[in-house]
Amino acid sequence: LVVMEQVNKHFGDLHVLRDIDLTVHEGEVVVLIGPSGSGKSTLCRTINRLETIESGSISIDGRPLPEEGKALAQLRSDVGMVFQSFNLFAHKTILDNVTLGPTKVRGVGRKDAEARARQLLDRVGVGHQADKYPAQLSGGQQQRVAIARSLAMDPKVMLFDEPTSALDPEMINEVLDVMTQLARSGMTMIVVTHEMGFARKAADRVVFMSDGRIVEQATPEQFFTNPQSDRAKDFLGKIL
Ligand code: ATP
Ligand code: MG
Repeated sequence: LVVMEQVNKHFGDLHVLRDIDLTVHEGEVVVLIGPSGSGKSTLCRTINRLETIESGSISIDGRPLPEEGKALAQLRSDVGMVFQSFNLFAHKTILDNVTLGPTKVRGVGRKDAEARARQLLDRVGVGHQADKYPAQLSGGQQQRVAIARSLAMDPKVMLFDEPTSALDPEMINEVLDVMTQLARSGMTMIVVTHEMGFARKAADRVVFMSDGRIVEQATPEQFFTNPQSDRAKDFLGKIL
């Protein structure tokens, strides 16, 4: 579904993505891990073209990423993204946060968008909060709304960049549970996270990056019990 071939990118002198080859199949859950600064966020951002690339190619569903215009807007709605900060619209209700994309971008009617939004909010466990404003919800609840908001666009793939890093410990699991459910439902997902429990439980594959390269990839089982590279061993030694 997502195919990256020989992707390279610099920030000035910094070679942040080096010869990245990565294929993510439909329904696959890939967890991306690696030291700080290794290029994980940048890699995610290239997939919805929040960052441009210098060489190589990226395609989704067999189509190269569009450069601009309507096609790019369509791409952005096909690729859901959830960040560390939830970025909900503070002056809109939870329900309106979720219906905004479908009504404005997808042209879905108000009534249908609301019905779908309520269904999604129920699914992530915040259905009863639909008429509140973001500031009235906990961080974990807001992040679950952010996930519902992305899902409302019917994305082909969901990207998560450290979705639980800004949360208090007791709220991390409620977000990971929603993500695990989503993984089991067959969603294609690329997840940057330090939550190794999630990686073990939900990932089909772990991709380990270091210094802009994909150094190693394996099933979670293989990766955590028998990492091959010194860099992966060193990294796991520090975090486990
Ligand atoms: P972390 O685990 O800390 O989130 P990461 O693996 O996500 O790290 P990136 O955010 O992709 O790493 O950053 C990779 C490198 O690129 C870092 O050295 C970072 O400082 C640099 N970088 C990221 N964004 C920019 C930018 N817009 N301009 C210049 N340098 C950048
Ligand atoms: Mg990052």
